[in-house]
Amino acid sequence: MSTYQTSKDRMAEKIAAFSKFGDLGNGGITRLSLSEPALAARAELKRRCEALGMTVTSDDIGNIYATWPGTEDLPRFVMGSHLDSVRSGGNYDGVYGVLSSLEAAETIITDGIKLRHPLTVMVWTNEEGARFEPAMMSSGIVMGKWTKEKMFAVVETGGTVTFGEALEASGWIGDGKNRLNPQDYCAYFEPHIEQGPVLEEEGLQIGVVEGVVGMVNYDIILEGVSSHAGTTPQHYRKDALRAASKTILDLWDKLGAIAPDLVFTTGEIHVKPNIHTVVPNYVKFSLDARHRDMAVLAQVVKVIEELPKDVYGCKLSYEEHWGRKTIEFDAQLLGFVEEATKALGYSYKKMYSGAGHDAQYVSEMLPAVMIFIPSKDGLSHTVVEYSSPEQCHEGANVLLNALIAADAAL
Ligand SMILES: [Zn+2]
Repeated sequence: MSTYQTSKDRMAEKIAAFSKFGDLGNGGITRLSLSEPALAARAELKRRCEALGMTVTSDDIGNIYATWPGTEDLPRFVMGSHLDSVRSGGNYDGVYGVLSSLEAAETIITDGIKLRHPLTVMVWTNEEGARFEPAMMSSGIVMGKWTKEKMFAVVETGGTVTFGEALEASGWIGDGKNRLNPQDYCAYFEPHIEQGPVLEEEGLQIGVVEGVVGMVNYDIILEGVSSHAGTTPQHYRKDALRAASKTILDLWDKLGAIAPDLVFTTGEIHVKPNIHTVVPNYVKFSLDARHRDMAVLAQVVKVIEELPKDVYGCKLSYEEHWGRKTIEFDAQLLGFVEEATKALGYSYKKMYSGAGHDAQYVSEMLPAVMIFIPSKDGLSHTVVEYSSPEQCHEGANVLLNALIAADAAL
């Protein structure tokens, strides 16, 4: 099978050019959604797409669609990701998906590759949720997870501007009819950095992403009694932090025994009264657990439900915070990505994403798939986030060849 190649130099130039928008001078960026640097990045993308002859529109949530026509009247292929970053983020999360999609489109356009389907490069507004919570806000609106009205009223973290006001001021509010929909689109591709260490550790070039792992999220609460740190003998204490510490370690033992690839995290903890001379009377900590097999997550829930209700004299309770089912991407699109990867001679593995992405919402509306490239040291959401020019090029090549295969078959 013959394969097509994107330009490695052009791909590298794109990454370098966009790294200027929100540049912190230390290798990283802060490009919060709809901030000045984010708007500059959008303007640059629009300029580049229009220079290639693509038609650029936006929908009523500011999602961008840059389209190149096909030779037949068929629904479009759409590919992309997000241009916003977290605070002190890197130059690959999200932006790589947009720029590799642009590079694939640029190759098709400049090499004169004829596709039957129109091709759309897409940018999702506010994927990170770093300025306006929640994450994946606009794909959530498009897929009906939450209402536009409610999201437009969300106030930025640490400020006063609402998402609706920022969007209005951005000039990117377009027509609601332009939204991604299952009539006008037939396949969604999202290239992304892995954001974890697996591909690099196993020496692989590409992750063919089968889906996004399911997760459960709990708050666990221990309630004891506050007392004086100097006058209360140890055996009289009902120390909620001691009870929480024991519970966290017990959870590590019990959850660690369920499945080797189950991941679980306590990342947030609140202690009251949080004073160094007072025995804590209240601790609330988070538990996030993720696995592709929902039966494994059911076992996690069982462990939580069966935690002792009294720990060192403190009362234990829990609240389910939120969760999601495992998302399975489209088997046919997965096949195109896997075949393209093989034809290019790249090493790969099929894997699930441990992180959430817009593609997981899209998959409820359209056939969707993701392509991963390795992340150096598995790091992401940090200024040292890095994937090499070679790796960026290889991911774009997989996308290009998967598009061409899909175009012939669909
Ligand atoms: Zn991302």
